[in-house]
Amino acid sequence: MMDENGILFILSGPSGVGKGTVRKELFKRADDLAYSISMTTRERRAGEKDGVDYFYKTNEEFEQLIADNQLLEYAQFVNNYYGTPRKYVEDTLAAGKDVFLEIEVQGAMQVKENFPEGVFIFLFPPSLEELKTRITSRGTESQNAVLKRLKEARGEIEMMDAYDYVVVNDDVDHAVRKVQSIIQSEHCRRERI
Ligand code: 5GP
Repeated sequence: MMDENGILFILSGPSGVGKGTVRKELFKRADDLAYSISMTTRERRAGEKDGVDYFYKTNEEFEQLIADNQLLEYAQFVNNYYGTPRKYVEDTLAAGKDVFLEIEVQGAMQVKENFPEGVFIFLFPPSLEELKTRITSRGTESQNAVLKRLKEARGEIEMMDAYDYVVVNDDVDHAVRKVQSIIQSEHCRRERI
């Protein structure tokens, strides 16, 4: 039994939560998954390679990609553009291979609009998970402080509701194993004779 099309997995979550680290570790362990290399206008960092870490574009080139509808989603993050190449994702899925995106939240929400059948995974910081536990426990003395911090994170927490899965990144190995379980489960869920 084989799925005809691949499944699109989207790993997203708040800035600094460790999405890149989890994605890189996942790809060391998974060989049946295609990583969609993003386009960006940000400067190449030391050690990064064009066509491996990103496809590096000028502002002009990126805006042309937008105009030509070549991006599945794009967002501006810290004054740079980031976007997912539409053709690569569509062709790879059509060839029956799973595709994995690691993108920030604005972009993930665009993918959800255009690709509702995608599997959306929210990587959650362990400190907010602790907050969540504390906020739900009765009458703690520090409740005001907890409420304030929780309020600051509200935007991100509200975003979380739009996702299919939440993975707490308390430990990279745990988080990667959870993502692998999600991938496996989604295949079982779609398995039909
Ligand atoms: P960095 O500059 O650190 O590589 O990435 C900054 C942020 O951009 C990270 O949160 C990363 O997940 C996100 N990002 C990377 N590629 C894409 C993309 O194609 N689209 C969107 N929306 N975000 C991306």
